[in-house]
Amino acid sequence: MALNLIFLGPPGAGKGTQADRFAQAKGIPKISTGDILRGAVAAGTELGLRAKAIMDAGNLVSDEIMIGIVRERLDRADVASGFILDGFPRTVAQAEALDGIMTGRSPLIIVDIQVPDAELVRRLTSRLICKGCGSNAPEGLTAGTAEAATATCGKCGGSFVQRADDNETVVLERLKVYERNTRPLVEFYRPRPSFCAIDGALVPGDVARQIESAVDAVAGATRG
Ligand code: AMP
Repeated sequence: MALNLIFLGPPGAGKGTQADRFAQAKGIPKISTGDILRGAVAAGTELGLRAKAIMDAGNLVSDEIMIGIVRERLDRADVASGFILDGFPRTVAQAEALDGIMTGRSPLIIVDIQVPDAELVRRLTSRLICKGCGSNAPEGLTAGTAEAATATCGKCGGSFVQRADDNETVVLERLKVYERNTRPLVEFYRPRPSFCAIDGALVPGDVARQIESAVDAVAGATRG
C-alpha cells in the first residue's frame, strides 16, 4: 500500500522541515508546491512570471493553476510507493480536486501541524534558506546574525538568505490568508480516520517522532 500523505499547517509550522525528514526516512518524494513555484520564478517561465507578484504579496496562486500542477506531478512514476504533499491543498476547492485525483489510489493520510501564531511570526521572520538550492538553513542559524552572514549551505555551498515573503508585513498577510482559506481544511479533513493532529510547538526531533507514530498507527489501521 502506498503512503500518500499531506502535511497541513500554517506557514512556519515546520511542514517543509518535517516533510523532508519523513520523505527521506520513507524513501518517497516530497512535493512542495511553494518550491515548484519558486523554481518557476527563478527559471523565469510563464508560470513563474504569473506567480511572482502573487507570492511576493503573500496571496494564493489560483486553484486552477495549482490543481493542474499537482495533477501532473502525481501522474509521474516516482509516486508509486507514496508521496508527501507540502503546501497543497490550501483551499477547500483544491482539497476536493485532490480527492478526485486520488480515486483508485491508497487513501490520503492527513498530518496537521499546529503552532501558536506568536511563535509562527518569530520563526518566519528569522528563518533562512539557501540562495542556491532552496534548502532550509541548519537549526539555530537565524537571520540578522554575524554567523548567518558567513555560513554556507552543506548541500551546495550557497549562502543563506531570507525568503522574499518572510518579512513581517507579508508574514502577517500570509497568516491571514491561512486563517481565511486554509484553516477550514482542518474541519474538512478532521472526520476522516486518517487525520493526525500534531503539536508543532515542540523541538523538531519530538515533532518528527509524534508524526512517525501517528502515521504508523493510522497506516496500520487502514491496512486492517
Ligand atoms: P510555501 O512555500 O508553501 O509557503 O508557498 C509560498 C507561496 O507560494 C504561498 O504564499 C503562495 O503564494 C504560493 N503557493 C504555494 N502553494 C500554493 C497552493 N497550494 N495554492 C495557492 N498558492 C500556493
